[in-house]
Amino acid sequence: MKIAVIGTGYVGLTSGACLAKIGHQVICVDNNAEKVAMLNRGIMPIYEPGLKEIIDEGVNAKRLFFTTDIKKAVKESTVCFIAVGTPPLENGEPDLTYVENVVQDIAANMDDYRLIVEKSTVPVQTGSWIRKTVERYCRADVQFDVASNPEFLREGSAVKDFLYPDRIVIGVETERAREIMCEIYRPLNAPIIVTDIASAELIKHASNAFLAMKISFINAVAVLCEAVGADVQLVADGVGMDKRIGRAFLDAGVGYGGFCFPKDLRAFIRIAEKLGYDFQLLKEVEKINEATKQRFVQKIRGALWNLKNKNIGILGLSFKPNTDDMRFAPSIDIIKALLAEGANVRAYDPQAMANARRIFPEIELCNSAEAAAQNADLLAIVTEWDEFKKLDLARIKSRMRLPIICDGRNIYDRARLESLGFTYIGMGR
Ligand code: NAD
Repeated sequence: MKIAVIGTGYVGLTSGACLAKIGHQVICVDNNAEKVAMLNRGIMPIYEPGLKEIIDEGVNAKRLFFTTDIKKAVKESTVCFIAVGTPPLENGEPDLTYVENVVQDIAANMDDYRLIVEKSTVPVQTGSWIRKTVERYCRADVQFDVASNPEFLREGSAVKDFLYPDRIVIGVETERAREIMCEIYRPLNAPIIVTDIASAELIKHASNAFLAMKISFINAVAVLCEAVGADVQLVADGVGMDKRIGRAFLDAGVGYGGFCFPKDLRAFIRIAEKLGYDFQLLKEVEKINEATKQRFVQKIRGALWNLKNKNIGILGLSFKPNTDDMRFAPSIDIIKALLAEGANVRAYDPQAMANARRIFPEIELCNSAEAAAQNADLLAIVTEWDEFKKLDLARIKSRMRLPIICDGRNIYDRARLESLGFTYIGMGR
């Protein structure tokens, strides 16, 4: 199959590389010339485990190409995946102008049948807007189909998630589109659910909203655990063993972040509002998430009294482990709150340092966890990188001014830390 993937970010680049890996001829397009030039030089613009290897494989097999030329990509492909960003606007709605621009470009360059696939996360009914836009801007008399194929990959395990998905969701209007989509994914041998376009669009938003709800739910339970001296991890284990509930996404922490959950939840609330439904349940999920971040800062305050001129070491800046992505990371709100109270912040992350430098030029970025612990009055764990689980904590302690650890991800065992002489503060336990 000849495929163009437009937008070469976390989703587009992974999708393009994986589609090439399973045998398709793929052209990845991005209007960021610098990114395309890097990719053409074999340099990765993002950190994602295992991605470089399959990109190299696709490029060497001449099945994967990178270009800024959307015209050429559309002309040479039967299927055009749209994987551009849909960032949030002030009012919570996603900005769909990138999607519209790409659809206009596709329409203007179609010279034969094309299947246009929404891969970006978009509000329900975007499919009909895509159809209308193509009809308006397509000059040739050609047939086309629109399909929705939302992406569920997670940063940090994107390649594995794409190649071994729980399910593939395909929303289509015609048999021809259904056949093409199923053919594209046939080599994956994964369960496929075929629906109408609106249902597929809703599946994506409903899934992310449900996962965010699980996280806020357990963070609310964590508050109760603290009040009575229970352990939220044990509670989550017991609850999660029920197959109807499941253990995943029941880890109490500093709240969810990233480019998907916060924006997709807000978008879903707005979509519901526009359709005449006040989705209060999801508004509460958002509120709990904000409160969770504030509670973490409150714990630090509770340990240090005044934060002014206190040295706080932060371990973990990316919104989750195994990625360099800091978009809407909880670390950002937490660090801002600490800085606002006059704390001196020193931070370290295994992969997100370049992004951190752009976001926080004023804080001291360190090249190791030990360096971030130097002279610290408190060390805060914000992202649960494996590297932090394996730290030599005795050495860390010897570097610190006060041996206090505020473990925002519950990665350490309280008894062990206390036996090492730390004051240990966890989340919900
Ligand atoms: P991203 O910002 O990493 O990538 C988007 C890319 O699109 C950028 O490289 C940008 O330069 C490019 N672009 C924008 N306008 C363009 C145009 N007119 N022509 C060509 N390229 C253009 O975003 P992402 O994280 O890959 O997310 C993309 C979409 O997928 C979003 O809707 C997001 O919600 C959704 N999604 C993301 C994830 C995730 O984990 N990041 C998971 C599932 C779904």
